[in-house]
Amino acid sequence: RQKLYRELRDKPCVTKDGAPVDLLMNAGLAVDLPQLTQSGASGIGLFRTELQFMVALTFPRVEAQERLYREVLDAAAGKSVTFRTLDIGGDKVLPYFNVSQQEENPAMGWRALRLTLDRPALLRTQVRALLKAAGGRELKFMLPMVTQVEEIHQARQIIDREVRHLSRFAHHLPTRLKLGAMIEVPSLLWQLDELMQAVDFVSVGSNDLFQFVTATDRGNTRVADRFDPISVPFLRLLRQIVQAGKKHGTPVTICGELAGKPISAMALMGVGFRSVSMSPSAIGPVKAMVRELPMQDLTDWMEKALANNSSKTDIRAGLVEFAKDHD
Ligand code: PEP
Ligand code: MG
Repeated sequence: RQKLYRELRDKPCVTKDGAPVDLLMNAGLAVDLPQLTQSGASGIGLFRTELQFMVALTFPRVEAQERLYREVLDAAAGKSVTFRTLDIGGDKVLPYFNVSQQEENPAMGWRALRLTLDRPALLRTQVRALLKAAGGRELKFMLPMVTQVEEIHQARQIIDREVRHLSRFAHHLPTRLKLGAMIEVPSLLWQLDELMQAVDFVSVGSNDLFQFVTATDRGNTRVADRFDPISVPFLRLLRQIVQAGKKHGTPVTICGELAGKPISAMALMGVGFRSVSMSPSAIGPVKAMVRELPMQDLTDWMEKALANNSSKTDIRAGLVEFAKDHD
């Protein structure tokens, strides 16, 4: 199998009926970078910048941040990279940063964009490091845990301010800036039109979105696997996001763990995703699946399955059957 995946590495990722699918990888540290060529990923769909902060003994200085981001962009050599701004708080604790108040529900607490908007110096420093590292290249920012569209405008103001600051000192700026939002908090589902107009792209964080939609703690083994994301309600919800993206011409990707298992990835293709980001080791198996996939048949199959009002519809079992039938 490993040999097969290696052979597939440089082959195009298109379905049997010719639909191209973009397979990106998730990363977070310099050690992940060789995987970019080894896996055959077409870019980094999620760079978790908080990992550098989590392995450090104190806040990484702006120079250290810039160095890492430059290394990432150099390794990507023109492939697309999406940098997620700091997603600390919740389960991602920094031993040297005291969230002074004990939180009863840290996953829903002072974390990610909430925290960096309240501590703008943190965000400004990171934005500056990113802008400098990406001089002369395209730069994609992605905001975690967005809850209302207004937060995107606030983050944009911080970014714009740093751009103005650097240009005043004649710094070499990125050729192009793109700002995206993660869809992880259910409230965004009722602001999809406004959201799609406010950003250059969105990416579904299926780990957190599923956690909050189903009210099941992703880290609690007693409940984490109780409900299946490959199910009618969650897939309907994902389809709705894809459709809103299409309506506004806003690119939509997904970067939670869901994309990394062939059957789940198939479900995602079925509801319309054409760009998915996953751990590098999943790229080979998912690419093998995509190249065997009759996309139109799958799309038709999924449409019927999601229109079915029976609460017993077992999408996962149905997809396994579909895969066997089309082998
Ligand atoms: C997610 O929530 O799906 C996601 C990609 O972010 P993280 O797993 O880092 O919270
Ligand atoms: Mg998340």
